[in-house]
Amino acid sequence: MSEPPTISDTLEQTVERHPDREAIIYPHKDQRWTYAEFDDRVNSLANALLEAGIESGDRVATVLHNGSEMALTVYACAKIGAVFTPLNFRLPAGEIEYIVNDAAAEMVLFEEATREAIESARPSLETVDDYVYIDADAPDYATDFYELVESGSTDRPDVRVEEDDVYAFIYTSGTTGRPKGVVHEHRSMVEHNLLCIAEGEITKDDVGLSVMPLYHCAELHCNLFPRVHRGATNVIHHEFDPQAALQAIEEHGVTFLFCAPTAWNGLSLTAAEMDVDVSSLRLGLYGAAPMPEQVLENCREHLCEDYLQAYGMTEIGPAGVFQRPEDQLSKQGSAGQAGLNHQVRVVEPDAAPDQEVEQGEIGEILIASPCTMREYWNRPEATEESLREHDGTTWYYTGDLGRLDEDNFLYVVDRKDDMIVSGGENIYPAEVEDVLFSHDAVEEAAVVGEPDDEWGDLVVAYVVADGVTADDLDEFALESDLLADFKRPRKYYFVDELPKNPSGKVQKFKLREDEADVEPESETVA
Ligand code: ATP
Ligand code: MG
Repeated sequence: MSEPPTISDTLEQTVERHPDREAIIYPHKDQRWTYAEFDDRVNSLANALLEAGIESGDRVATVLHNGSEMALTVYACAKIGAVFTPLNFRLPAGEIEYIVNDAAAEMVLFEEATREAIESARPSLETVDDYVYIDADAPDYATDFYELVESGSTDRPDVRVEEDDVYAFIYTSGTTGRPKGVVHEHRSMVEHNLLCIAEGEITKDDVGLSVMPLYHCAELHCNLFPRVHRGATNVIHHEFDPQAALQAIEEHGVTFLFCAPTAWNGLSLTAAEMDVDVSSLRLGLYGAAPMPEQVLENCREHLCEDYLQAYGMTEIGPAGVFQRPEDQLSKQGSAGQAGLNHQVRVVEPDAAPDQEVEQGEIGEILIASPCTMREYWNRPEATEESLREHDGTTWYYTGDLGRLDEDNFLYVVDRKDDMIVSGGENIYPAEVEDVLFSHDAVEEAAVVGEPDDEWGDLVVAYVVADGVTADDLDEFALESDLLADFKRPRKYYFVDELPKNPSGKVQKFKLREDEADVEPESETVA
């Protein structure tokens, strides 16, 4: 076989090469399968899905925590050309309803933890014919997942899947608006596997541990997929528990682990207090934000030496830019350089791909990647806006602002839509928030622009803080010497919490549009 062109081929090639290597270890259900055993179950589930009437192109949604069931389902869908559509298990019923209806899913897999939400959404899920339940005691309207896995033939299903067929709809996190369905094809995801294998130097001898959610493409596409492609082992944890994760590293000789920076922080603090041997760990992967220096230091002391940062977004796979281990300290705060076969440019916001800003200047980040989505599902205008052709190359407009340094290292500054223009000056809220965060009394802070006749936008801060006034914070900002006068918030809203999406990212559009369910007490700076 030449290079595998579809996601199911990547598994089948591994089965040919390493049938007896351990594929899945899922302690929550005492499951351990070799690649041959895993593939048998995947085939069986795929055949059972065909029996249940799922056809090529049909959407199969999951509302599940991590588990072997996610791995079985994604590969079973890939084998029959069904479109895997994973949802965040924390979504409330209304959001599940929105996504399942937007995707027009035919089947929904759920579990005890998501049963209540599914049951309240169910009357409005008009396209769903089948419900599949993965725990014991399926409700009467649902099929038992393990009955399906045991019922189908273990022969490879007789369905031809092409490399440009749709592999999945992956919904974005919904930070800047409603989640958008990102349509990914098989071939581009195989490319993404190769990228992650190369950048993470993944081999068949690696043992990965999945603790971050598999519904998000960072864990699924940067970790599980490349490991399966390479024949490495996957330990899957039902959810993130720092102690259990550390014990699993010792027990299974885990070599490779992906966490968000906050989770790395928790892990390193727990490791400092636990008697556990984590010497097998060779590389820590992280994304979503740069690693604060102190966290990096703790991780190096208590976990492993080398870290790799990835920057990207659902639309490009998600990884596209990598900060390699040797650059963590010398390029602190950077997201790294373009990944293999990728290009990064920084242009005037919204301008053509050849309208690059001067080196060091801030502009919109564009990425050209072989892993880019085909389109946004049902959103031709958003697709047109974000994917633009130039000289035969497709550029993805990330909507993130950043700058490139003299060595082509990218620094992500903020989201384009969050930028505030006040009195003709550009203000990047992340910079202001960093200063506010550094005040001991401030738990959370979000800075946005509020329409104002005089200034265009007035800089205002929403803060969760106890025992401070607007004047205290203003004085603190002034004394920090880090913020120019025009960047200092003119008004503070004291709130109990900030609106966040289920991944924990602050939804500023809700603050701007007054949609947030917060009752602010406002104080204007004297
Ligand atoms: P939506 O598109 O629905 O508003 P989202 O953009 O938060 O949601 P994701 O695709 O999960 O959905 O997140 C991608 C975004 O996360 C990027 O556009 C960027 O703003 C941020 N991001 C990802 N990795 C990094 C990183 N290493 N450093 C800084 N920011 C990052
Ligand atoms: Mg986005």
